[in-house]
Amino acid sequence: MTRIAVIPGDGIGKEVAEEGALLLQELSEIRGLGFELRHFDYGADRYLRDGTTLPKEQIEEFRRDYRAILFGAVGDPRVPDGRHAREILLALRFELDLYVNLRPVKLWADRFTPLRGKGTKEIDMVFFRENTEGVYVDVGGTFKQGTPDEVAVNEDVNTRKGVERICRAALEYARKKGVRTVWMSDKSNAMRHAGGLWQRVWKELAAEYPDLELRHMYVDVLAMQMVLRPEMFKVVVTNNLFGDILTDLGAGIAGGLGFAASANLHPGKIGLFEPVHGSAPDIAGQGKANPIATFLTCALMLEHLGCEEEARIVERAVEAAVAENCLTPDAGGDKTTRQVGDFVRAQVRRMATT
Ligand code: ATP
Repeated sequence: MTRIAVIPGDGIGKEVAEEGALLLQELSEIRGLGFELRHFDYGADRYLRDGTTLPKEQIEEFRRDYRAILFGAVGDPRVPDGRHAREILLALRFELDLYVNLRPVKLWADRFTPLRGKGTKEIDMVFFRENTEGVYVDVGGTFKQGTPDEVAVNEDVNTRKGVERICRAALEYARKKGVRTVWMSDKSNAMRHAGGLWQRVWKELAAEYPDLELRHMYVDVLAMQMVLRPEMFKVVVTNNLFGDILTDLGAGIAGGLGFAASANLHPGKIGLFEPVHGSAPDIAGQGKANPIATFLTCALMLEHLGCEEEARIVERAVEAAVAENCLTPDAGGDKTTRQVGDFVRAQVRRMATT
């Protein structure tokens, strides 16, 4: 039996996580995968009701008894400081030490990209974003706050262990997928200390991976090349902040947030799988949320659980939805979240039973 936790969260997170959970349940039944899905109500409603964000014991239970978490999104206008969202999502990422944020940037149809002359062949890459360090560790402070002399500092924390393990994760992935060139991106020309560490680690790893070509590109140049020559990139590894920015750029050239999937991993341990988009309060509860990002996120989960064939089935079902334009308005369709979900699940059923 494989236990999977489902945390729908807030806003459209609830709608898309429900679609994803139905898909996983269905696949499990058809293919005898033995998934046991359990829903958890952590999110704004629960926080506002009883102050609970994510109890420590819950994280322990996830760590001990679960193989994966399907996460919707957190964020609610009724909690303006976003405390619950931070405590839930960051606690999961940090406490479970999910140091790999794997984000595919893959275009599913030529018509979805704003880039002229580029299509599905050119836009197909995977980002490895470091997920536990960098400027997100909240080390810093302010001084003379509220005066004209105010000082604000946010430190960029990079550890040898942290840099090495994310670089290795990208290299191992490239090896497994038969990709020869892997790009590491930093800003070592301006940020000499952190960048220097990334550079040294990258050079050392080159000796360990002689079958791969380990390349480097400054992050500003890489951002430009992603737009001009996206076909250059298949696997890219970078730090937390640059990964955040580059993958939003990636979503922009690959059909928008409705198609952007992500996995938070620590190889060999429980993984957290979530669409890149947030809770989108502007469209919540209206059946307008695109569930494709969540289906692609489920495909990443299936791969993590060793169900490679089922992961490909989900991707092919998404391809069919795109080909038939059975999509929500953000992707140029006129279907509801549920209609897209039903279509994709019907495709999956057909493909998984034949
Ligand atoms: P966060 O700060 O958590 O990223 P946000 O509201 O700033 O949240 P998102 O929720 O990611 O940002 O989305 C920005 C906008 O993109 C939304 O307001 C919504 O209009 C659109 N959007 C995001 N995800 C989807 C989706 N799955 N389907 C349709 N539209 C979406």
